[in-house]
Amino acid sequence: MRNVVIIGSGPAGLTAAVYAARANLSPLLIEGWQSGGQLTTTTEVENYPGFAKGIMGPELMKEMRSQAERFGTEFLTGEVTAANFTQRPFTITVDAEQTIHAKTVIIATGAAAIQIGVKNEARLTGHGVSTCATCDGFFFKGKELIVVGGGDSAMEEATFLTKFATKVSIVHRRDKLRASKIMQDRAVKNEKISFVWNSVVEDIFGTDIVTGVRLKNLVTGKVTELPCAGVFVAIGHRPNTSLFSSQIDMDAKGYIRTIEGTATNVPGVFAAGDVQDSTYRQAVTAAGSGCMAAIDAERFLESGSHNL
Ligand code: NAP
Repeated sequence: MRNVVIIGSGPAGLTAAVYAARANLSPLLIEGWQSGGQLTTTTEVENYPGFAKGIMGPELMKEMRSQAERFGTEFLTGEVTAANFTQRPFTITVDAEQTIHAKTVIIATGAAAIQIGVKNEARLTGHGVSTCATCDGFFFKGKELIVVGGGDSAMEEATFLTKFATKVSIVHRRDKLRASKIMQDRAVKNEKISFVWNSVVEDIFGTDIVTGVRLKNLVTGKVTELPCAGVFVAIGHRPNTSLFSSQIDMDAKGYIRTIEGTATNVPGVFAAGDVQDSTYRQAVTAAGSGCMAAIDAERFLESGSHNL
């Protein structure tokens, strides 16, 4: 029987673990198959306080994990395949075989990259289609690439990819970027980056590897083909909440609704990080809410509410 089970190993989950471990709650953190969450697919993180010169995303997550471990967090590598919050203690099933009983649960499962949803996208994923420039950029030395999206991620990915590619075209469905001014400026000033406005990807070509895309201009209706060796999709994220959908209240987009701090509609189940935040979605806000969730869980346990 666990006092606190934390699901997810991004900034929210690991910060919750640091706080819960330091409160002597001996937390168990289920970290998935790839520990560290979305920041492990990022390059330089420049806006996490405490790192004046910036820090690489994977390095930051390694540090957070070590910090949680230092205070006695136990880690379990595997995927949560089922959760039952209808009776106490709660039960969490890992990899469909191991059942864990918990007095409180902190859901910090984050969010995942959204796909464009066009023909050949899934088939060519890993063969030129990617949602992670940091992971795959290296394979495109001297090539021409496209990045889809107009937000900070698209600007960041495109800028990063110019380290390897000869040319990066950002394909955006409108004529205005959603990205922050500083990220826009960086991309606009980069000579290797050009913009294809008001356009969407209609198809991706390639038998074994990506060779190009078909684009449609949404204003003129004109269809063009653009040769490229890679398509980096950066059009946002979807919360990882399908496992909890019948038990935990969510908004229309599937983000968990929190009430009074990090509490969900089920007393004793808390949610932290991107899984409950469609607005800020920053590493530091995720970490902040992870801290809140651990404190909320600690107070819940202290009050004896888990026995009710
Ligand atoms: P985002 O801000 O939601 O932007 C998604 C972009 O993709 C938008 O430009 C959107 O177009 C476009 N889009 C969405 N669905 C599409 C579709 N089906 N087809 C074509 N285009 C589509 O997502 P994000 O860029 O991943 O950023 C998420 C959050 O993380 C933001 O808060 C961002 O500030 C933050 N972030 C920060 C950093 C940093 O500071 N270093 C880096 C990355 C992300 P519309 O504009 O038309 O809606």
